[in-house]
Amino acid sequence: MDTLFTKIINREIPAKIIYEDDQVLAFHDIAPQAPVHFLVVPKKPVRTLNDLTEDDKALAGHILFTAQRLALELGCEEGFRVVMNCNDLGGQTVYHIHMHVLGQRQMHWPPG
Ligand code: 5GP
Repeated sequence: MDTLFTKIINREIPAKIIYEDDQVLAFHDIAPQAPVHFLVVPKKPVRTLNDLTEDDKALAGHILFTAQRLALELGCEEGFRVVMNCNDLGGQTVYHIHMHVLGQRQMHWPPG
């Protein structure tokens, strides 16, 4: 069964796409929690952060670097937050890893 995000990657479900390359897709979150809120998703459907392997280290770095570059392109140079939720206790709802990037409002700590 394809994940929701694989369906977005395959253009079976529409999304506001920001960026794509051979490894990742970035698109705006459907329920934004900040003026800027987008997701960076690997095309490889890794279920959770717990499922990352040694072989995925370059991909994990690419996700983070893509998040930084797009955050700056979208006007978040004064600050932004990246979040990766892992499993139910971590608040994950879509089981295809993704990095949230939130910006253009003041963030607070601790998160909810
Ligand atoms: P999680 O809770 O797994 O960390 O994050 C999943 C995110 O995916 C949520 O912020 C949610 O709003 C977003 N999301 C869920 N369904 C869709 C969808 O169909 N399209 C888009 N663009 N985002 C979605």
